[in-house]
Amino acid sequence: MTEWSLTRWSYLRDINNEGTGIAVWQPFAEISRGGEPVEEGTMEFIDPKLAPIWEKVHTGTRLSFDDGRTLYASHDLSGVGRMADFVRRKRHGNIAYYVYNQHVNYTNVCSNRCTFCAFATDEGTKNAYTWSIEEVKARLLERKAEPVREIHMVGGLNENLDFDYFTGLLRAMAEVRPEATLKAFTAVEIDYLSRISGLSLADTVEKLKEAGLAMMPGGGAEVMSERVHDALFPKKIGKARWLEVMETVHAAGIPTNATMLYGHIETIEERVEHLITLRELQDRTGGFSAFIPLAFHSKNTQLAYIPATSGVDDLKNVSVARLMLDNFAHIKAYWVMIGEKMAQVALSFGADDLDGTIIEERITHTAGATSATGLTRDEMFAMIRGAGFEPVERDSFYNPVP
Ligand code: SF4
Repeated sequence: MTEWSLTRWSYLRDINNEGTGIAVWQPFAEISRGGEPVEEGTMEFIDPKLAPIWEKVHTGTRLSFDDGRTLYASHDLSGVGRMADFVRRKRHGNIAYYVYNQHVNYTNVCSNRCTFCAFATDEGTKNAYTWSIEEVKARLLERKAEPVREIHMVGGLNENLDFDYFTGLLRAMAEVRPEATLKAFTAVEIDYLSRISGLSLADTVEKLKEAGLAMMPGGGAEVMSERVHDALFPKKIGKARWLEVMETVHAAGIPTNATMLYGHIETIEERVEHLITLRELQDRTGGFSAFIPLAFHSKNTQLAYIPATSGVDDLKNVSVARLMLDNFAHIKAYWVMIGEKMAQVALSFGADDLDGTIIEERITHTAGATSATGLTRDEMFAMIRGAGFEPVERDSFYNPVP
């Protein structure tokens, strides 16, 4: 006899193992086998290589490099996802976060010209733009009636801008939006600001903090691999400097996120190495707030021949991050890059945060993203509730906001 139990927390179970091929998961003792409780923590997999990893996940044991490689290589997406969902629910239960935010990309002029970047251009081209401080203020004022809690600001390395522009920009933004957190600059920009200001890294960060910098979005490392760095973004800072910047920023009391750009020329091993490097820095500083896997979009880049990431890879990057980054509180499903539908599904594959309303996303859309350029609060709610989770609007530091 086959019995099926369907609860909010359970998946279908073929009790008598009649070969339906349906994987089994019962982390909570809500499922009974013919009335008898089933041992908590049991999980079966299509891919038997996942079983020893589940033993570690279930007992809270840190996963190794080889475990990360096995997770990425496995075709048992459901098995990887169920383990990630187990960890996600232990940390966050049924809650899924989002923030009411606004993006500001102050210039697309950049001297680095990374091969994967569709956003950057040279000064003097027809698409080039640089906003003055007054123009940035005007953009914030346009949305003054909205309850924006966070300003997310990144831009290119524009040699026509001096350090005073950046401190002035932060001050002006803080004046217009005193209630919002200023989350700005990748480690690449921080390194650049240190060079143009002539200040040490620590002093640069201190000046930016005094001007209002309260958080950093965490980009710029892409994938911490010398091979990928040399091939795709040789002018950009490498792994050692990225880590140094992040460590300095954390030491200054400024939390950051961390990202990984996947779906270009990186290998599975390079992805795992990237995650473990982040995990090690997090052990030292505790300064990372969320990890955000970023799906590569190749349109309008020098790598336009590279196809879009698959849905399986998008979900796997969320799940593997959730499992490998045991010291990161939050994993984001960035709907701009993986689309609203995939982000909604990712909430059941380890993600606990959908980032934000955004409005006017430019960088990924220049590279061909087909997602919306922004979402309303109602749309965020519908996405989260539609996935069976409870939406919680948060500030930048994951405090719920009324
Ligand atoms: S990714 Fe950043 S640093 Fe590289 S070209 Fe684009 S804007 Fe410049």
